[in-house]
Amino acid sequence: MILKLLEETNMMIAAGLKRATFAVVGIGGLFLSAVATVNAQGSLNLYCTVQEEWCRVMVTEFEKQTGIKVAMTRKSSGEFYAQLKAEASNPRGDIWWGGTGDPHLQAAEEGLTIEYQSPRMSELNDWAVRQWKQSKQRTIGVYAGALGYSFNTELFKRKGGAEPRCWSDLTDPRYKDEVQVADPNASGTSYTMLATLVQMMGEDKAFDYLKRLHRNINQYTKSGAAPANAVRTGESLIGITFQHDAVVMAIQGAPIKIVSPCEGTGYEIGSMSIVKGARNLDNAKKWYDWALTAEAQNLGPLGKVSFQVPSNKAAKAPPQAPDFSTIKFIDYDFAKYGSSAERTRLLSKWDKEVKNLPK
Ligand code: PLP
Repeated sequence: MILKLLEETNMMIAAGLKRATFAVVGIGGLFLSAVATVNAQGSLNLYCTVQEEWCRVMVTEFEKQTGIKVAMTRKSSGEFYAQLKAEASNPRGDIWWGGTGDPHLQAAEEGLTIEYQSPRMSELNDWAVRQWKQSKQRTIGVYAGALGYSFNTELFKRKGGAEPRCWSDLTDPRYKDEVQVADPNASGTSYTMLATLVQMMGEDKAFDYLKRLHRNINQYTKSGAAPANAVRTGESLIGITFQHDAVVMAIQGAPIKIVSPCEGTGYEIGSMSIVKGARNLDNAKKWYDWALTAEAQNLGPLGKVSFQVPSNKAAKAPPQAPDFSTIKFIDYDFAKYGSSAERTRLLSKWDKEVKNLPK
């Protein structure tokens, strides 16, 4: 009897242990599968070409919504184009978001990026879709921005005279060392200026102009938006940038006036492309689709870090964004100036004839 009781007790203990073991295995299994789910979201290597603050706002929200871990690097448009080319046999980036359209078009032509058709296409403005068609589906418009310049109104008051209104004013010798612009090799903004002037004036006159402008340049920066910050701090009287980059400074209370040049000006279609050979291709597509939503495109303006015109028709252009209806635009030829041959040729000509000229 005692033996039987002991036997039954042992069996109960054994059964209990078994249940407990199952429970532990069960919990452990759940835990493991939760870890697996997080890991399954994986990661994304983002090459980001807008201003760092906007890159960070986007990354934080994307990570929150998807659980995908984003490793972000910020560089200028021309720099990322060169990096994609250098990394072509061993790609490190998955998606390149933002930056002027020309280097994205060049990357597309050179097969550094891949075709993709997002389910969001129907939500986009025509100009964004045109960019996609032109690149044989390899890059798409995410925002548009108008080129121009800004000046520091306080510094200007001290200087006196008529305010600059046109491109032609910027070569006036009275602005010697007082104009800042980026190097067009690194910066998409500055390449947009180079291509705009060539389209407006013809190549010979544009290079004459750039040589005269060179005498007034205090620094060729890497980042296209940096000259707007230099105007804000008073480090430079005048900065040539996209107009929306100067808006960022103006809304911070900087004494800045934004100029849409009287002769007319060029513009960018800020773009996005998926890198050929992306290791995290599914996640790159997730970013791509999400970055085209109105919700994602409203993040920059809401955070007061971007004032471009968004490509999703339902996204709200911020009220402070430059009013395109009042700007005299040239008919920018993206096919020509985004082509590999033309961009390479113009940049090397600028290097040879302008960059190293004595002042
Ligand atoms: N940052 C902003 C806010 C822009 O709109 C653009 C243009 O696409 C860039 C950066 C591009 O910068 P970069 O001229 O340095 O290539």
